[in-house]
Amino acid sequence: MHRLRALALATGFSLAIAIVALFYVWGAFALALAATQWFAGWMGETIAAFIAAGLLVVGCLLAAQAAVWARARWDAHAGAARMARRRRDLEALRRDPARAHWAPLAERRQVADPATVARWESRYRELLAHPRRRAFAARALEGEFLSDAQIDFLLDPSRRVTCAHLQPVEQALRAAGAPMTVGEPGFLWTEWSLDGPRLLREMPLPGVHWQVPAAHPRDPQPGYLRCPACGSRIEGGFGASFPRA
Ligand SMILES: [Zn+2]
Repeated sequence: MHRLRALALATGFSLAIAIVALFYVWGAFALALAATQWFAGWMGETIAAFIAAGLLVVGCLLAAQAAVWARARWDAHAGAARMARRRRDLEALRRDPARAHWAPLAERRQVADPATVARWESRYRELLAHPRRRAFAARALEGEFLSDAQIDFLLDPSRRVTCAHLQPVEQALRAAGAPMTVGEPGFLWTEWSLDGPRLLREMPLPGVHWQVPAAHPRDPQPGYLRCPACGSRIEGGFGASFPRA
């Protein structure tokens, strides 16, 4: 029923826009024609042609303005429809006992479409069913959907993801309590800013390179430690400096 009404509204809008645009174009054309005929008999054809051209230009400008107005109206209408749908989705979510536990997150994120909530629920159940990762199910409810690799990394302090040559740095970051993100094997990211030259001086890191991407004024890139032999790397961010001064 809602969809039918939206369709009818959309059709009505399109029709109204077409009629307004047609009216403008036709009006400009008729004016130009009338002016041409009037001036042709009275002042000569050259001036009449100039006037007609001028009127046509005015007509085109008016038509363009009408199009802009119609577009703005249409955007406002589409935005209102989106908001109404979100409100309906959220209400349906609150009323559904099987999914209501997602209502706070949906409200916070302003997202409640059934496909997204189904994705959240599926990940939540996956975590609950796992003997160790279930400890992170409650964090999913809060909107923190960590990957399996990240959870396993957090659960096991002895776990290392980088190659043997980079592990002294990984271990030191762990010991210092650095916030770290893991994903693909061999790759580690920390928001702390790495002092690469100092790490290379102070730790045994055979074959490891410190690399700083070319300077870019608007989008500066942090440096990273890389082991070319293993393709492993530790990337820093712009947070506190590590090791500490
Ligand atoms: Zn290596």
